[in-house]
Amino acid sequence: MRYKVAIIGAGPGGAVLARELAQKDIDVTIYEKGSYEELGHDWSDAVERVALKWAGLNMPELVGNEWHGDLVKETPDSEGVFEKHAIPRLKLHSPGYNSVKDIEFKMITTDRRVLGQMLVKQAEEAGVQIKYGYEGLGLLYRETGTNGPDGVEVYGVSVKNLENDLREEITADMVIESSGFHSVLRRSLPAYTGLAFMFKDNEFGFVNREVRERDPEKARVDIIPDHYRYGFHGGYQWSHIHNAERIDVGAGVKNVPGKPDPKDLIEEFIAKHPSIKSEKLRGGRGLCIVGPPLFNFVTNGFVIIGDAASTSVPTTGCGAGSAVLVGLWAAEVISEAAEEGRNDMVKLWDINKKFYLDNDRGASFAALSALRNALQTLDHDYLDFLFRQDIMSADILEEAVNGVFLPPAVETKAKSLWRGITKPSILAKLNEATGRGSKIYSHYRNYPPYWDPSIFARWQAEAKELLQADR
Ligand SMILES: Cc1cc2nc3c(=O)[nH]c(=O)nc-3n(C[C@H](O)[C@H](O)[C@H](O)COP(=O)(O)OP(=O)(O)OC[C@H]3O[C@@H](n4cnc5c(N)ncnc54)[C@H](O)[C@@H]3O)c2cc1C
Repeated sequence: MRYKVAIIGAGPGGAVLARELAQKDIDVTIYEKGSYEELGHDWSDAVERVALKWAGLNMPELVGNEWHGDLVKETPDSEGVFEKHAIPRLKLHSPGYNSVKDIEFKMITTDRRVLGQMLVKQAEEAGVQIKYGYEGLGLLYRETGTNGPDGVEVYGVSVKNLENDLREEITADMVIESSGFHSVLRRSLPAYTGLAFMFKDNEFGFVNREVRERDPEKARVDIIPDHYRYGFHGGYQWSHIHNAERIDVGAGVKNVPGKPDPKDLIEEFIAKHPSIKSEKLRGGRGLCIVGPPLFNFVTNGFVIIGDAASTSVPTTGCGAGSAVLVGLWAAEVISEAAEEGRNDMVKLWDINKKFYLDNDRGASFAALSALRNALQTLDHDYLDFLFRQDIMSADILEEAVNGVFLPPAVETKAKSLWRGITKPSILAKLNEATGRGSKIYSHYRNYPPYWDPSIFARWQAEAKELLQADR
């Protein structure tokens, strides 16, 4: 009997995980509620280069300010995963556009539809069966009588065939949730597992982005750099050039009642730039998860990855790369589990370990999410001040935008104290936030290296207190 895995959701995380498992001769089926044509997004996202490289994509080479390689679009409408225009460095403006930092940008502008379709094709070639038009409804599980994350043994998943509305119960050695932030499967578990909660509204950013045509003649004088207007309305506004004729403009705001519509923010920007034409070519809007990652990604027979586990970069909402990386790490652990004929939580714990201990991605994201929350309480003038005084320096911002938490060194603190002397209350707030970020970071670097219910319970209680989270 081959080890059987059922995956719900064919996003980048699920597709890469499925491909890796099938290559190890595991029997993998993906249930995807949408169609092949609808996979990904109808636009190009900024995706972490390192993740796509680790996923085995033939990454292009940087020549001047352009990408060159097999997967690059030669013309705006030609096939290809990557936009030609490269953004090795990004201008990071303060909300009032009166201070700017120049940072390294470790992303590549990636056509999410082409990427999505390419990854599922690779999965199919490796032997994965993909069932489109099937919606995952909930997990099939037995209760073990333990009051904690190991209180269940998952043995399958219930799905609905959307064509005929019929339900099927699929049994499997392992079920994977990679269905995005709605996290339908984990929410079907009992509350005592600690996995069944819904993400809160304030754990999201609300984002709108559009690809517009540009008049190359007017663009000669209407210069628009690749930039972020960082901290704008608790999020950021951006422009990323695709090529001489296309530009991506977008904005994401803090997802709270009374928030501005990011579409209006984009319109304001476009109105100031005569080279940008009025017709929208591609684009869309929606929520991006930006809260801290789950405290734990597994239980017996069940693993959660990608947005369902809240693994996006909290300072940008970019989550495609992280979904891929966690998918790859989960694949390593699950293939070992399959070889040993296991699916228990003790074995699967190594996925948490990879995220929190072997890499510091988990610790950085938890700390950055707390830092983001604190900075979102500062208004635009205060953020402008912090940029201007270089208290929010290029170094700190570069790491943060690229998903890395940098605990402030003593010299940095002293420098900030001096530069922020005229606004002690903001400085106190910032120090409080970075101090808490550092504590969170250290606490997550002490993540339990193996599954032990009481050690994990203590660790989680402290993490909740530090994050002020009631998940
Ligand atoms: C407007 C916008 C802009 C963004 N910009 C960026 C960006 O620039 N860079 C970046 O990295 N990220 C960006 N993101 C976030 C990014 O899209 C996600 O972080 C990423 O796609 C998460 O990957 P995933 O594999 O976890 O899940 P998803 O890509 O969300 O895939 C989940 C899949 O599961 C399917 N599904 C859902 N529920 C079920 C169910 N019950 N049964 C079966 N199938 C189901 C869905 O149809 C989907 O195909 C943006 C998001 C939005 C909304």
